[in-house]
Amino acid sequence: MKKKKLNLSAKIFIGMALGIVAGIAFVGHGDFTTAYIKPFGTIYINLLKLLVVPVVFLSITDGVVALQDIKRVGKIGGRTFIYYMCTTAVAVVIGLFFANVFKSTFPLLETAGVEYDAASSNVMETIVNIFPDNIWKAFTNANMLQVIVIALFIGTAILLSGEKGQRIAGLVSDLYEVIMKVMMMIIGLTPIGVFCLMCDVVAVNGPSIIQSLAIVIGVAYAAYIVHVVVVYGASVRFLSGMSLGKFFKGIAPAMICAFTTTSSNATLPLNLECCNKLGANPDVSSFVLPLGATINMDGTAIYMGVTSVFIASCYGIDLTISQMATIVLTATLASIGTAGVSGAGMIMLAMVLESVNVPVAGIALIAGVDKIFDMGRTTLNITGDATCAIYVSKCDAKANAKANAAK
Ligand code: ASP
Repeated sequence: MKKKKLNLSAKIFIGMALGIVAGIAFVGHGDFTTAYIKPFGTIYINLLKLLVVPVVFLSITDGVVALQDIKRVGKIGGRTFIYYMCTTAVAVVIGLFFANVFKSTFPLLETAGVEYDAASSNVMETIVNIFPDNIWKAFTNANMLQVIVIALFIGTAILLSGEKGQRIAGLVSDLYEVIMKVMMMIIGLTPIGVFCLMCDVVAVNGPSIIQSLAIVIGVAYAAYIVHVVVVYGASVRFLSGMSLGKFFKGIAPAMICAFTTTSSNATLPLNLECCNKLGANPDVSSFVLPLGATINMDGTAIYMGVTSVFIASCYGIDLTISQMATIVLTATLASIGTAGVSGAGMIMLAMVLESVNVPVAGIALIAGVDKIFDMGRTTLNITGDATCAIYVSKCDAKANAKANAAK
């Protein structure tokens, strides 16, 4: 399984490299690549877009149902959820901040079109528009925030519907399994899609675009580091009262595993072990960490912030403040829907780009180097889960001590 994934990464990288070489060969013949090579890339993008709605709907519904009894999870679930959402929202803001600081170094593509109008709604309008008035419209327009709201309602209703709900829960989980298989098939086409799109981008814009990729990777890693030092540092030191040296030394094996496997799910067993050794309550960590591997993706959120601004810049789109607010919201929610497997964040990026009318085809610009982004973002994703397990364990211990003292 692991070998197959690595092979795919290598293929994507080769697809990108060949696309660049072919693109350089076609410089000056951009009309030809746009007419005859790019359309195959467009097919790949269409397939990606096709997946976004079902994947988001099913993964979130399934995620809510997986919580089982909402009351039982009660305090721990609530605290964990708030912690996850807050740190993720901060992560997107850090990503957007860094990307905006370095925006002037991002290129403007020749292919940039005026057909993508900036969404001009204000923040209140954005909030109102999250709530759909027509279930089908939400799906057919691929309005992701609305789809998420529907998924949250249906997931909760399934939990509240007893035995009948259980039957639907089984159906949702089976459908999710099937759609994940479709996703794997389409991900398998990435090398071809990347080749076709990259070839056209280089042929039309010239080779200078490659240097820009190195810059955007550097920007993402700078944001990753700031998030670890500032957010996780503060959480471990001040919320959990643990020394940073002890925490990072204890969690290092899981961080290395995440960096190399680029999968939060694959890192989960090691993360559990590291956290328990660091003093987390096993009852708490066995709830907090699997939930985190599914819904808490701070690194992915940073990546989405940085790459949204990068891709928008490439298309000559200047994101407005309300569009940035939409990105914070959608990227936070998209992180819930991102599976803890290699490359999943790139698929969910389509949802964030769609929410602010930035061309999804821009994903091709970064797809060839996605693995490099993924190594850093997965490391952050699991570290964030670990900080939460330590913090919630501490709160839980305090609450237990209080309850015992009261007896
Ligand atoms: N690879 C990431 C993870 O497993 C998800 C992503 O692609 O962003 O945490």
